[in-house]
Amino acid sequence: MLTIEELSVFCKKKGFVFPSTEIYGGMTGFFDYGPLGVELKNNLKSSWWKTFVSTREDVQGIDGTNISSGKIWEASGHLANFTDVLVQCKKCGKNQRADNLVEDVLKINVDGLNAEALSKIIQDNTIKCPECKGEFGEAKNFNLMFPVQLGAETTKDSTAFLRGETAQLIFANYKNIVDSGRVKLPFGIAQIGKAFRNEIAPRNFLFRQREFEQMELEFFVRPEDKKCPLLEKRQLELEFLFLSEKDQDAKQEHNKVKVSDLLAQGLLTEWHAYWLAESYLWFTELGVRKEHLRIRQHIKKELSHYSSATFDVEYKFAFGWKEIHGNANRGQFDLTQHQKFSGKSMEIFDEETKSKILPAVIEPSFGVDRAFLTLIADAYHDDKERGNIVLKLSPKIAPVQVGVFPLVNKLDEKTREVFNSLRKEFVCQFDRSGSIGRRYARADEIGIPFCVTVDFDTLNDHCVTVRDRDTTKQERVRIVDLKQYLTLRFGY
Ligand code: AMP
Repeated sequence: MLTIEELSVFCKKKGFVFPSTEIYGGMTGFFDYGPLGVELKNNLKSSWWKTFVSTREDVQGIDGTNISSGKIWEASGHLANFTDVLVQCKKCGKNQRADNLVEDVLKINVDGLNAEALSKIIQDNTIKCPECKGEFGEAKNFNLMFPVQLGAETTKDSTAFLRGETAQLIFANYKNIVDSGRVKLPFGIAQIGKAFRNEIAPRNFLFRQREFEQMELEFFVRPEDKKCPLLEKRQLELEFLFLSEKDQDAKQEHNKVKVSDLLAQGLLTEWHAYWLAESYLWFTELGVRKEHLRIRQHIKKELSHYSSATFDVEYKFAFGWKEIHGNANRGQFDLTQHQKFSGKSMEIFDEETKSKILPAVIEPSFGVDRAFLTLIADAYHDDKERGNIVLKLSPKIAPVQVGVFPLVNKLDEKTREVFNSLRKEFVCQFDRSGSIGRRYARADEIGIPFCVTVDFDTLNDHCVTVRDRDTTKQERVRIVDLKQYLTLRFGY
């Protein structure tokens, strides 16, 4: 399997992702998206928005600010609880994330252990600094929120924060949305945007960054509603690899289960099951292979301060099974906190029960960059027979949709004609350099699903050759039918 370092080299070479400010030595945990990366990222975000917002009647979107008042983060519990445990080497002064250090050295899972427990493990096992073999000091909590000074004055109120998650801007706007729209329970509010976390040890390329992007949906339901009317065969029959809390306690492997099994065991509510299934399906419908995905139940100790039950979708990366999506039952935690701290009622009038209620919340939370990493890692195939990489990205999100090539340069004019007409409908790339085989290989490497070649016969029969990236099969298609043919192949 391709290592994460090899994947980052590939992404840089092909113009997907670059280390940020590399000419000045770069900054750990910050990455810039290049020409192909931004297209792929935009496509995946628009696929998410389409799936979870614009094609649904019960979800609306917002776009909140990146910088927000400290009061929001005090209410949400982030200023007090949004911490990781840090240990510092007494000799070289380098900081390490204590849980990562212990997991790397002892190969055990320490999710949810506090500073004291991690300190004890480090001391009991005499774990030394991986940099200089020095001894570590006591482990302590480190807050991940990034403070920002507003204006010239330095008072408590002039300290704001870069948002640690997009969710809180949804809660802070929830009343405005209820008051300005005609929303009825159950309903959702979604947002795509940047989030910032001062991670102690950013690592694994795009996986753990200090600036990243999230796609979050807060879905508000009546707290006493046990039934989810949207739950049907599509979700109930969905089968996936599952690692329960029990399996983790007993150090067992994951099993294959269905959503209906989780419900029968009472592991989650119907609304939670519905959103977990929909979230998992978003990945598989973009082509991520099921055998590389699993759902893991959070063990009690590792639950976030706001959650009563969380399930992660994990992807099997070269560096292990890791969270790419979190699905939490946040209950009434956030609205209760904002009600308390702002002094404003967060209750809404529910027409069905004719009463004022404080909704409960299910949160499907996605990381754009982790979804991007997953899609590239899963699409990457080193095709020994062809002698090149084939990036088997779903045509729905491929950064370039159609490659258009003249067989020889003499055919440029006719090829430009075809290119210009396709360009209005598809993202196209014109490529005239090198042999046709070389051009197909280059197209494979950046995941172009279809390539159109104009040859000498085109001048007489008004047909072109369309090559399929995955099968390499070639078909003659009339130029007049080309747009319709490609539209069908893209499955629009
Ligand atoms: P969390 O609130 O920690 O459950 O994060 C929600 C989602 O945001 C995760 O499932 C990830 O996809 C993404 N995410 C969280 N932290 C980072 C990070 N440091 N870098 C990149 N993505 C992240």
